[in-house]
Amino acid sequence: MSEETQGGAQGGGCLFCKIISGEIPSKKVYEDENVFAFLDINPRNPGHTLVIPKKHYVTLLDMPAKEVGHLFESARMVAEAVKGGANADGLSLIQSNGKAAGQLVTHVHVHLIPRFMSEGPISLEGVLSVKKMPEDTLDKFVAAIKEKIGSAKEPGETKFDF
Ligand code: AMP
Ligand code: ZN
Repeated sequence: MSEETQGGAQGGGCLFCKIISGEIPSKKVYEDENVFAFLDINPRNPGHTLVIPKKHYVTLLDMPAKEVGHLFESARMVAEAVKGGANADGLSLIQSNGKAAGQLVTHVHVHLIPRFMSEGPISLEGVLSVKKMPEDTLDKFVAAIKEKIGSAKEPGETKFDF
């Protein structure tokens, strides 16, 4: 596990675990037995919401596939409400895993960010530039990824270095 126990076996010391328990206050918008959703304290746009699993995991790849299913089913429902509630034109779902991906809080979270035509649409290209790659390099990635899929016994085998 990629430091799943960081801060304690059930996330003791984890900021988001403390939000779930109520030890740290939050602006909660939804809760069920598996997930908790609340406003981001530094909203990138009005209505910016975070959806998190109640069980402490550091990254998505630490989670059993079934629990990822619960997380994203709820995220999809909350996403619709966030988009409607913010009267947004679009919605970005961002989910970062590992330092290299910019993950700051080490408890899995899905960002739901309302998007507006007035802000000027920013696509993925605005975040990461396109890298040109030759055909044989692309084929190597296809082979490497297929091999990993073929050898995966359990979801959650790929780990991140924190
Ligand atoms: P990330 O960079 O993907 O790890 O995002 C972590 C997010 O957590 C950031 O957008 C923070 O603004 C947000 N955040 C940090 N502390 C709190 C808090 N106490 N309540 C709500 N959101 C928080
Ligand atoms: Zn936690």
